[in-house]
Amino acid sequence: MAKLASKSNRTRPQGKRGPVRTAKTAKARSKAGRRHSVKPVGTKVSGKPPVAAPKDKWVYSFGGGKAEGRTGMKDFLGGKGANLAEMAAIGLPVPPGFTITTGVCTYFYANKQTYPQALKAQVEAALLEVGKIVGKTFGDPDDPLLVSVRSGARASMPGMMDTVLNLGLNDKTVEAVAKKSGDRRFAYDSYRRFITMYGDVVLGIEHLLFEDILDGHKDRHGLKLDTELSADDWADVVERFKNLVAEEHGKPFPQDPHEQLWGAIGAVFGSWMNQRAITYRRLHGIPESWGTAVNVQAMVFGNMGETSATGVAFTRNPSTGEKRLYGEFLINAQGEDVVAGIRTPQEITEAARVISGSGRPSMETAMPKAYKELVRYSGVLEKHYRDMQDLEFTVEQGRLWMLQTRNGKRTAKAALKTAVDFANERLITREEAVARIEPASLDQLLHPTIDPTAERKVIATGLPASPGAASGEVVFSPDEAEQLKAHGHKVILVRVETSPEDIHGMHAAEGILTTRGGMTSHAAVVARGMGKPCVSGAGTIRVDYAAGTMSAGGLTLKKGDIITIDGGAGQVLVGEAKMQEPELSGEFATLMGWADKVRKLGVRANADTPADARVAVKFGAEGIGLCRTEHMFFEEGRIRSVREMILSDDETSRRAALAKLLPMQRADFVELFVVMGERPVTIRLLDPPLHEFLPHSQAEIAEVAGAMGADPKKLANRADELAEFNPMLGFRGCRIAIAYPEIAEMQARAIFEAAVEAGKRTGKAVKPEVMVPLIATKAELDLIKARIDAMAKEVHKETGVRVKYSVGTMIELPRAALRAEEIAQSAEFFSYGTNDLTQTTFGISRDDAASFLGIYTAKGILPADPFVSIDRDGVGELIRIGNERGRKARPGLKLGICGEHGGDPASVAFCHEAGLTYVSCSPFRVPIARLAAAQAALGKGGDRTA
Ligand code: PEP
Ligand code: MG
Repeated sequence: MAKLASKSNRTRPQGKRGPVRTAKTAKARSKAGRRHSVKPVGTKVSGKPPVAAPKDKWVYSFGGGKAEGRTGMKDFLGGKGANLAEMAAIGLPVPPGFTITTGVCTYFYANKQTYPQALKAQVEAALLEVGKIVGKTFGDPDDPLLVSVRSGARASMPGMMDTVLNLGLNDKTVEAVAKKSGDRRFAYDSYRRFITMYGDVVLGIEHLLFEDILDGHKDRHGLKLDTELSADDWADVVERFKNLVAEEHGKPFPQDPHEQLWGAIGAVFGSWMNQRAITYRRLHGIPESWGTAVNVQAMVFGNMGETSATGVAFTRNPSTGEKRLYGEFLINAQGEDVVAGIRTPQEITEAARVISGSGRPSMETAMPKAYKELVRYSGVLEKHYRDMQDLEFTVEQGRLWMLQTRNGKRTAKAALKTAVDFANERLITREEAVARIEPASLDQLLHPTIDPTAERKVIATGLPASPGAASGEVVFSPDEAEQLKAHGHKVILVRVETSPEDIHGMHAAEGILTTRGGMTSHAAVVARGMGKPCVSGAGTIRVDYAAGTMSAGGLTLKKGDIITIDGGAGQVLVGEAKMQEPELSGEFATLMGWADKVRKLGVRANADTPADARVAVKFGAEGIGLCRTEHMFFEEGRIRSVREMILSDDETSRRAALAKLLPMQRADFVELFVVMGERPVTIRLLDPPLHEFLPHSQAEIAEVAGAMGADPKKLANRADELAEFNPMLGFRGCRIAIAYPEIAEMQARAIFEAAVEAGKRTGKAVKPEVMVPLIATKAELDLIKARIDAMAKEVHKETGVRVKYSVGTMIELPRAALRAEEIAQSAEFFSYGTNDLTQTTFGISRDDAASFLGIYTAKGILPADPFVSIDRDGVGELIRIGNERGRKARPGLKLGICGEHGGDPASVAFCHEAGLTYVSCSPFRVPIARLAAAQAALGKGGDRTA
């Protein structure tokens, strides 16, 4: 079974996941934008076309209620820079700053890491401007302006590049900050953070060395938490840090703020080419040529005591889409502390705190004024951007500052709910909602969850960081995860916490489990983006990397043991749990309903069994576009009769073998027709590479010989005769029916008798479409069609029931596409078998393609694997020719596609443009095809070759 099944599976692509896209149709965009402009928001951001960068302008300022940049300038300001400018322009409290464009990054790499000549003066001028707004001067020993320096590419690359905070501090300015703020402890805490970050990011000194010094200080003074350290403690640590820098770097820590600034700018541009950024770009298809921008911004401090905080929030729940501010914050903390997962953060809303059972106050109770403002800005930003936002903020002594907004990454479930809710709230149109969902991301919703009746041997709980469930072998290292995956294993990556260096392992794993970190920790964010289940912060689990074990709930599991994680419930289970199919109601059904209203293409399923057919109907298939009958022959207990049929060397014995197969085929078809009712069912006549049926071992030969009463030696010789060098181009498809018409006759009889029987059982008119595979000439089709028609008449005569059927053909050879006009004189429908059509157009065997196609795509010779996404230029042209010529002979000719491309969004877009009647794909991809067809009708195509 496995071997034959592999013919159809071989080209089936892996489900692709990626960040949720938010493209909209221009028409729908402007309509909804008119209806929902929000004060004080004056623009509809998403309606603006991208703006080109003016020549020799490298720096864009923002702050104080105005900005030189806007959202439409993402290409050269980066996402963060453009959105900071936008927020400043619409009057939100954004610390003033400026963005150095991505053009500088491009220049930097094209010119031996140097800068454009005009840059220095522009940076100096922008710094002065920032200083004016905040009333401080950069480098001033009495009242210094401190800044942050952050990366910000066109596409979000969370945590991949470098950041430096508190820049501008030195031995003098730290004292000035202490005096001005009246908080010496805060000043030295900030200084030690700065030295650590700068030392790590700019000077390349290992972070761990700084941590060792800090730990040493704590041990010597009997201190445990950072919060227990006094101003003098921090001042002492700062001295030791500076000594470390001098030792490791060979020079003292730089005291000149300008030198610090240019060092940090260079390091951020440099981080565009670090290994993890390169890997992230490769995984997400982000071109290297885009470069990153650098944002320099006045510091605001979340670490100025109990009235200060730092936090991140989504305007809606990124896992479920629930409409409620959702996030985490840390009191008296700075910048990256929340994301780093070092301290466990507190909830933003009281409702979330109650659910979590945390004893520490939510932001809503601890900082009610700042919380109210955050809620208000969250609403303003959602309406302004017309999408769910991911926010970063700081509260400095009770005052709220917005540090970032961007369209929030979300699970497919949340994407669906937010799209449907936004449409219902009239922030966007229904068409926009349809256009917003990445079709391939629906895959996430179609994956199993744990069966509620299954026994759950829970060994630990953590946070439900990314929904869905998965089972697999425990593995502790990302490299091992990758290796095991390559050998066909399913693994769960278990880490204390993940970092950007781990993404290749996360990619390879079925799911991710961490023992530390919150809902916005690296593991949680990345897993949601990848659409993989994740449980984070399962703190009761102890991981011992060295021993390769994890202990929890009194159990010690080692590498290779099986666990299940439930990313929806945050549970970790020992062993493999029983899974269940997903529920496809609610927002899913609503959005699919909207999609169905828009799409022009029909969507059918490739289904070989009644079970497949039931799934297909549940997922909205309008019929079966391909039933591969050879798959039925491989059912347990049938293979022997099939072998008898093949190995017979005369018609009589072949007919005897076929007589045994007839009732089995008929029973299959009856069931299929009953499930499908009046929906059309395309049944394809036998099309296996014949040798796949052949007996291979001595025992198999002896078994068939026994059943046939034949000489095993003779039988072995006949099997040798039938073996082929290239079975994919061999005795296949209609060629079998040409050589042995009695096989086609048996199948036709089974189809018509089953149609009569199913019609009687259901009271519905069954609509079989008999499809002839792999024809090259009209003569082939005519010969086989004559047998089918004759059989239809015979069954009519025998049963008294006339079945309404049609006979059509697959178009999967270039000659058939070229001769479509004459073929359509006989064929009542065409179905493009693009698996074979791709094979035969390229002259690339389906069996062998994998060994070199990767090289072709890596070298850019092909834009994508043509077995995954249709080759528009070549295979596509043959389809267009086939359509045009076929419809010349038969104007209403029904045109379908049933190769694997039928479930690939980009190929579905092509099928829409080419004017096909329907696409047919595997049942689980039916919703993807429905959505992709709707998006194609809305003009959101997937032309990857353009
Ligand atoms: C095809 O060739 O595209 C097709 C659907 O048929 P098979 O994959 O069974 O050859
Ligand atoms: Mg084929």
